[in-house]
Amino acid sequence: MSIIIAGGGIIGITLALAISHETQGKQLVDLIETSDLDMRFSSDDPGHSIALSAETCKKLSALNIWSYLEPIATKITNIHISDRGLPSSIVLNATDYNVSSLGYVIELKSALKRLLIRLKAAPGISLYCPNKISYVERTKDFVHVILDDNRKLYGTLLVAADGASSDIAKICGIKKYYIQYPQIAIVATISTQLAHNGWAFERFTTDGPLAMLPIRNGRSALVWCQSISNAQAMYHTSDQEFLIQLQKIFGWRLGYLVNTGERKIYPLKLQIAGQNVSHRLILIGDAAQTLHPVAGQGFNLGIRDIMSLIDTLKIAWKNERDEGDSRSLQYYQKLRKLDVQKTIAITDGLINIFSNRTTVLVIGRMVGMAIIDHIPQLRNIIAQWTLGRLKN
Ligand SMILES: Cc1cc2nc3c(=O)[nH]c(=O)nc-3n(C[C@H](O)[C@H](O)[C@H](O)COP(=O)(O)OP(=O)(O)OC[C@H]3O[C@@H](n4cnc5c(N)ncnc54)[C@H](O)[C@@H]3O)c2cc1C
Repeated sequence: MSIIIAGGGIIGITLALAISHETQGKQLVDLIETSDLDMRFSSDDPGHSIALSAETCKKLSALNIWSYLEPIATKITNIHISDRGLPSSIVLNATDYNVSSLGYVIELKSALKRLLIRLKAAPGISLYCPNKISYVERTKDFVHVILDDNRKLYGTLLVAADGASSDIAKICGIKKYYIQYPQIAIVATISTQLAHNGWAFERFTTDGPLAMLPIRNGRSALVWCQSISNAQAMYHTSDQEFLIQLQKIFGWRLGYLVNTGERKIYPLKLQIAGQNVSHRLILIGDAAQTLHPVAGQGFNLGIRDIMSLIDTLKIAWKNERDEGDSRSLQYYQKLRKLDVQKTIAITDGLINIFSNRTTVLVIGRMVGMAIIDHIPQLRNIIAQWTLGRLKN
């Protein structure tokens, strides 16, 4: 029987490729995706970019996936972290940590396009697309799903990789808990007068954090979080006015901000599934937890879900056991618990500290920034987190 994956986003596709790679196609995978993947690439929607930690790239390498993404990835060689209005800042350099980069940035749409080509050629994977699961039955020995065109699939395990508003979680009665941040993110590609030379910028303001990540052709990927009213105004304003306002907040580190691509807005919330496993079901990626984008940890955490799931499956394959039995589910749950809790706590804490207006916290973060930049051990902790090396 197959492993059924719902959701052909970056997490679902990466998991399907990982299983195909690990078993040379012997473990069958049924991947179901609602949107027409080929049409997705022909739309004008530019999508967003994501920063991958060095550890994530290593994991993708181990799964034989990184070689498909590396040609479109841009190295982060330096990170500048600042707080608008405060004199201190933190600078992380790859050379200080004896690495060639602190991470990479990929444009999600380009990455998905490449992975889809790989997916279509990978052994053991059947793609059902565009299709939706309309019925799920989980029996003692298998999971049975019916697609919207009435095709029936049988598997040992159903993996929900269907994103933040996971239908599978709803169908299977998994509760979601969330904190809605009083902000939304504007995402756009910015062309600048000066080349970024691998510099990423993270800037905290009283209205919300802003990140500029280096991407191909000398451009930078902007994620700008603001109060809902400000963001709506910024979204609807002219390109010229948008760039003027952005320049005021971001400053001149990349010279004039010359041009902006199409703007897109994303609501911001931290969302966690009440449980990431249930009978013959595992939730991974954004379906299990959706984080604030500025901390740049959503996919980095999702790839760790995938690695833990592969470790779990390997044990089942080795012992010729059913992949979706309760031992497998419990083992996976144990592997994920601490990492997920810790990443969520750090991400949420970071956003709250740096977007808080109260005087105590303003002073605290001013002192904090100064201390962090002058005490190498503390800066080192931030760098290790960025690199994806902070251990539980
Ligand atoms: C602005 C922004 C910036 C970000 N920056 C970073 C970053 O720098 N670093 C980082 O690590 N992360 C970042 N993230 C987070 C990262 O993008 C996500 O964690 C990651 O893309 C989630 O992938 P996913 O496949 O789990 O979910 P999704 O990308 O949501 O994919 C889910 C897929 O499932 C499909 N689907 C939905 N419902 C069904 C259904 N019922 N049946 C079948 N298929 C279904 C959807 O069509 C979609 O293709 C950022 C996020 C945002 C919004």
